[in-house]
Amino acid sequence: MIQLTRIRTEANVPKAFRGADRVKRERELLTKRRDGELEFKSSQWKPAKDALGAESFRKCAYCESLASAGYPCDVEHLRPKDVHWWLAWAYENYAFSCFLCNNKKLNHFPFEGTAWPEPKVAGKTDAQLAALAGTFTPDPIDAAEGLTLAKFAQRHAAEDSDLPHPYLDDVSPLLGFRADDVLEQVFVEPANGTAASKRVVNALVTLCDINRDDLSRDRYLRYELLRVIADAWSSDTLPPALQLEHVDTLKRAMDASRPYSAMARHFIRRVWKLQLP
Ligand SMILES: [Zn+2]
Repeated sequence: MIQLTRIRTEANVPKAFRGADRVKRERELLTKRRDGELEFKSSQWKPAKDALGAESFRKCAYCESLASAGYPCDVEHLRPKDVHWWLAWAYENYAFSCFLCNNKKLNHFPFEGTAWPEPKVAGKTDAQLAALAGTFTPDPIDAAEGLTLAKFAQRHAAEDSDLPHPYLDDVSPLLGFRADDVLEQVFVEPANGTAASKRVVNALVTLCDINRDDLSRDRYLRYELLRVIADAWSSDTLPPALQLEHVDTLKRAMDASRPYSAMARHFIRRVWKLQLP
């Protein structure tokens, strides 16, 4: 898992999740909730899939496996729609996630802080709901509309969830990786002995099954190639042109666009301590 950045442009974020359409949809959400008619259909968030995929380099936001490598990815509600119903259509509550991470998590969302304030809809008139619509989530590309991004981040932090938010939290200092050459698997583990490190790894393992067999084996395939390249480069015996190629490959492996880049960064920087030019 690495920290992602939203692409806040009209070209990226579909119209349904911003501007007047966003407010209109939220009004519908509030009204249906008040009337006990709220039902979720994937067609409501499906249009966000390509935009989220672009932000995530077509990788799962949790496990960093490529959508094209046999892991179908879809729109993930970071805060489950059946719990945080008012964030069900909010773009800020979305990420691109593989079926396996997403399906394991379902409606589990443990947190230790202050619950996110739920909009009150019971007994409200249509006019009151219309006034409330658009105010409890941010507009992804217009900072002047709706809840500010700072406030959204503040509520996320106040709730203090076990599972990190891929766009708001940088958990890279907390995530470690361990290669097992006998099992030929790379496991995610706490980077250090802190409670924060143990908590985030535990959340990713229990909620997203981040150490599942197929995934940890896939990570190992990438790891073993990187190790060979790193060893060759460190040996200082390569011709200059090959040296450069090896450095480029190692740097590319750490790039956010590459699968398992958090793992590559961990081994290249922390374990092998390579000082790449
Ligand atoms: Zn995944």
